[in-house]
Amino acid sequence: MIEILKVLDHGFVRVVDKMGTDSSIVQAARISYGEGTKHSSQDRSLIRYLMRHKHTSPFEMCEIKLHIKMPIFVARQWIRHRTANLNEYSARYSLMPDEFYIPQEKDIALQSLDNKQGRGGALSHAQAREVRTLIEEQSKTAYAAYKQMIEKGTARELARVVLPQNIYTQFYWKCDLHNLLHLIELRSHPTAQFEIREFSNAIEAIVKEWVPITYEAFVDYRKEACLVSGHAKKYLSRNDKCKREELESVFGKTEFIEFDHNWPEE
Ligand SMILES: Cc1cc2nc3c(=O)[nH]c(=O)nc-3n(C[C@H](O)[C@H](O)[C@H](O)COP(=O)(O)OP(=O)(O)OC[C@H]3O[C@@H](n4cnc5c(N)ncnc54)[C@H](O)[C@@H]3O)c2cc1C
Repeated sequence: MIEILKVLDHGFVRVVDKMGTDSSIVQAARISYGEGTKHSSQDRSLIRYLMRHKHTSPFEMCEIKLHIKMPIFVARQWIRHRTANLNEYSARYSLMPDEFYIPQEKDIALQSLDNKQGRGGALSHAQAREVRTLIEEQSKTAYAAYKQMIEKGTARELARVVLPQNIYTQFYWKCDLHNLLHLIELRSHPTAQFEIREFSNAIEAIVKEWVPITYEAFVDYRKEACLVSGHAKKYLSRNDKCKREELESVFGKTEFIEFDHNWPEE
């Protein structure tokens, strides 16, 4: 059983507590559907049915409590998932440790030209090293200023304001499986930022081991599935009334590029 997974340079995801299994989901669903499913093959079918039809409440019967350590800029994205419960390390009460996320050279890239929110092509080795050094030096300077203020007796709640977003924070975080799968769907997705993806991928590995049948259904119906619009469905079902050229005018440029990526013309 996975107990702790290291993430990035100083981060981790540690399992504190878990409640429920695939069986708890099936058991809860049987309240709705009576005695209909009793064998494990039927359990799998039932879980797939629930996932397929977005009957989500049985998945809320499972919960997980994690101890997570991540850089503050990742935590800012993480806490947007409002349906979890969280208690974070207090930089008013305690000193912030000298731990900063310094990306590896291979993870330093250029601004993407087609996705305003993402990374694009690679920097040269020398440029990536320069960027890494800049981040490292900036982190050291900021921590030195923080330490100086603390040594002068400045309140911790004020001294911390000079610390950059790549410093690490920690929190306990509890979430039910339904909302956890929603987070994984969004944050393990290739369009999510690399650093949050690393944490989401770690939790995904824990979920895969914890509730394997649910995870299998999640991968099939959510992670590897995609939304097909009414027009796309007509075209893909070889409905003669819907021509490929028409899709572009209905969708607009960006949506058509996405469609074309998923279903290139034969
Ligand atoms: C690739 C990507 C880019 C993003 N870019 C930005 C950005 O530029 N700026 C930005 O601000 N955010 C951004 N976000 C964050 C995004 O908008 C969501 O806030 C975040 O992903 C959390 O999603 P959620 O609200 O579905 O999750 P949760 O907060 O976990 O909510 C889960 C579900 O419960 C519902 N819910 C939660 N709380 C309530 C409530 N009080 N009342 C009713 N329903 C509720 C939600 O509608 C949702 O369906 C980005 C997210 C991703 C994945």
